Amino acid sequence: MKKLYVKSSKDYEIIIEHGIIKNCGEFIKPIVRGERAMIISDSNVYPIYGGAVTESLESAGFKVCSHVFPAGEESKNLASIADMYDSLAENGFSRRDFIVALGGGVTGDMAGFAAATYQRGIDFVQIPTSLLSQVDSSVGGKTGVDIRQGKNLVGAFWQPSVVLIDPNTLATLTPEFFSDGMAEVIKYGCIKSEALFERLESENAAEIIDEIIYECVDIKRGVVERDEREAGERMLLNFGHTLGHSIEKAHNYTGISHGQAVGVGMVIMARAGEAAGMTESGCADRIKALLEKYKLPVSDKTELKTLTDGALGDKKASGDGINIVLIRKIGDSFTERLKKTELYGFCSQGETE
Ligand code: MG
Repeated sequence: MKKLYVKSSKDYEIIIEHGIIKNCGEFIKPIVRGERAMIISDSNVYPIYGGAVTESLESAGFKVCSHVFPAGEESKNLASIADMYDSLAENGFSRRDFIVALGGGVTGDMAGFAAATYQRGIDFVQIPTSLLSQVDSSVGGKTGVDIRQGKNLVGAFWQPSVVLIDPNTLATLTPEFFSDGMAEVIKYGCIKSEALFERLESENAAEIIDEIIYECVDIKRGVVERDEREAGERMLLNFGHTLGHSIEKAHNYTGISHGQAVGVGMVIMARAGEAAGMTESGCADRIKALLEKYKLPVSDKTELKTLTDGALGDKKASGDGINIVLIRKIGDSFTERLKKTELYGFCSQGETE
């Protein structure tokens, strides 16, 4: 068992342990004060783990309800949140009760947002079951939904009470879902750890996944402790995301995953950084090769202008400027503020075809 402790507006533990999902109740019991648990999960994950989680929570003495929504980023909207409020209210949930987010990034973001806002905030527990949510989105308290104008534009910072990571769940992921999470893992190497990046190059990530999860979570823990609400350093976690979100939006959030889109975004920004003389040359090729190794796309057919225009509606844009994340070299990243009018020119200088 590995444990990390996050010190933020609310302190909490991240516990990494094979099989913990079956014993989640005993880990949750000493931490939350509530009596009832609402498991929020999607139509892919609930049938696999819902029974075991319910059983464990019940044997720890909780009354358990569940709310299951259709799997997919298309569900990540305010209508789904309204359904969650209905379930919570109809089952008589009060501020003493809590939510269990069981699933991937979409589930954690939405269940967390429901927890942040129902009765002005109730406790929630994260049980991430995808690689992406285990290495990234379950830690740090970002919750929210997409609106028509863009991804994650409505949400709240709301920290979980505990994060329980069971690496056994990765065995049930399709290869595409594993790759999706690998994009965020590669991101951590790019922005903070050349050693991690090199291990991903020389070894097979699936074989050392426990160590990878720990390392990514530890990097994220440090970043969110120093900058919980993204006033500075936390922005580095958005490497590849500004254009990535635009790519997802251009595809109407279907047919391309978050990780796939972020991978393409990282390649474009590394190339642009190299062309601008701000990124050590050769980085973009290394990133591209690593994405390819883990079966991720490295380009997208959407016009770059469409992507940069889309990015101007992102949260990283404000006033007449936009913050972008670049790398100096692998493992070393920084933010740069551009005028909105400069974004397309900056990104396009890296275009080779
Ligand atoms: Mg992400």
